[in-house]
Amino acid sequence: MDISIVVPLFNEDESLPHLAEWIDRVMAAHGFIYEVIMVDDGSRDRSWAVIEQLRAANPAYKGIKFRRNYGKSAALNVGFGQAQGDVVITMDADLQDSPDEVPELYRMIKEEGYDLVSGWKKVRYDSKIAKNIPSKFFNWTTRRMSGIKLHDFNCGLKAYRNDVVKSIEVYGEMHRYIPVIAKWAGFSRIGEKVVQHRKREFGVTKFGMNRFVNGYLDLMSIMFMSKFGKQPMHFFGLIGSVSLLLGVVALVVVLCLKIAGRMALTNSVWFYLAMFFAVVGLMLFLAGFIGELVCRNSTTRNQYLIEKELL
Ligand code: UDP
Ligand code: MG
Repeated sequence: MDISIVVPLFNEDESLPHLAEWIDRVMAAHGFIYEVIMVDDGSRDRSWAVIEQLRAANPAYKGIKFRRNYGKSAALNVGFGQAQGDVVITMDADLQDSPDEVPELYRMIKEEGYDLVSGWKKVRYDSKIAKNIPSKFFNWTTRRMSGIKLHDFNCGLKAYRNDVVKSIEVYGEMHRYIPVIAKWAGFSRIGEKVVQHRKREFGVTKFGMNRFVNGYLDLMSIMFMSKFGKQPMHFFGLIGSVSLLLGVVALVVVLCLKIAGRMALTNSVWFYLAMFFAVVGLMLFLAGFIGELVCRNSTTRNQYLIEKELL
């Protein structure tokens, strides 16, 4: 199979028939062997009925329906698990992403050797205040922190080589950071393609402003996990040591003050600083040890992605 198109959707019944028709048209024009995996993320409208109809008309359509709304990341993750095509394309269901981009994305993966190609909505048709400006800021910070030179991390239209999607796990709200997760897993050939973006014709956006706050917390988690996920003591132990060292310095000052004059220890700010840094330092070491215990028991502690083997 050439292409798997994974479509996460939540209450998109009006868009789906148009999307399917468009995908079929593009696939037929290029003679691709394909499947479309529609992951219904707990829709409460007629989306699932539409998916059943599509399936009845064309067995290339596959559907998975969640019992409730788990979020876009969960939907993508389940779709990735099912995808059989050599190239896996993700696409929003709301017709904002154009299926016309698929052949070129496919070519970039197949011929230019990319692990992942991300769409770039260079010209966007969303509200300026709610989307465009916050997303510029979001992309800038993600670029700085991850070192990946993409303009549009959160674009729903992306293409992957099949083994990339089988090797990564997307959960929570992490779908915005799939390139970061992929890079961390060792897939560093990440490309970008300017894609057409269209106005949402039917329904409404499913993401509000809280996505920005959660987004940054997720980015911090990812960066932390990639650096220290397997050796938490290297993180907590380092700042714990700095704190203990500062505690010792403060203690020395306190002792000098004590020797020099006869003031009560508790009158000196250095006394409190010494206490503070000592307690914080010990707590950080404790956190580090607990982190190490958690890692030791994690089932993924010895899970590596092997690229090639000669056995
Ligand atoms: N989506 C989903 N689960 C959710 C929220 C969104 O599967 O909990 C899907 C949604 O149906 C659409 C895609 O994710 O296919 C992108 O969502 P949306 O268009 O609302 O985001 P926007 O384009 O406004 O950023
Ligand atoms: Mg959209």
